[in-house]
Amino acid sequence: MDYSCPRCGKPVKRTFRTTGDSVSSLLYLAAGSFQCENCGTIPLSEFPEEVRRKARLSSALLILGAIGIIIACLLSFLYEHF
Ligand SMILES: [Zn+2]
Repeated sequence: MDYSCPRCGKPVKRTFRTTGDSVSSLLYLAAGSFQCENCGTIPLSEFPEEVRRKARLSSALLILGAIGIIIACLLSFLYEHF
């Protein structure tokens, strides 16, 4: 999904850390802010309410996905050991 920078109007990207496992990357992405190539890091609070609502929704979905991964790992662990 693409968002526009609230300062200069250029497209911004969500900051994403590639190191670490998938769960922590997902959680970091969910909690992360946006990166504009002109203005640097833009906190979510500077974006209009419409963008914040969408971002919160996608964050919630990401967190649900991360929880699903954790549950899947736990289940496969239980199946292997019991
Ligand atoms: Zn900008």
